[in-house]
Amino acid sequence: MVDWARFLTTAFTTIAPMLPPIIGVFAVVCALVLPMPRRGPRILQRQDSWRRFKDDARRVVMARAGNRCEGAVFLAWGRCSDAAVEADHIYPWSKYGPTTPRNGQALCTSHNRSKGAMRPPWWYVLSLERRRRSYFPPDADI
Ligand SMILES: [Zn+2]
Repeated sequence: MVDWARFLTTAFTTIAPMLPPIIGVFAVVCALVLPMPRRGPRILQRQDSWRRFKDDARRVVMARAGNRCEGAVFLAWGRCSDAAVEADHIYPWSKYGPTTPRNGQALCTSHNRSKGAMRPPWWYVLSLERRRRSYFPPDADI
């Protein structure tokens, strides 16, 4: 016969001292993956019929970035020095981000591959905006 009261008491007294650090780590992870509130494109109800940026949209995205990758060197710092080869969705197409220049960024192959279908967290958006202030045309929407 299992003594449930004793089992639960033992389990609780074992786990209790570990709870504050576990909750702290959980809160930090949650804060790091939160999206940026009230920023970015209006999310569509369904996927845009075009996945790839083409012609004018692609030209706008590449030109305002000076045909240079807009990715960060390390997490949120610096700007990648590689040439941009792909126009990529900031908010991913697979998660209903629109294929418009407003939702586009110029990336090199390795940055595009590492971003994948990640929904951009707040710090990603802020660091992209900070970098863009230095090279976007003054009238462009960062
Ligand atoms: Zn890059």
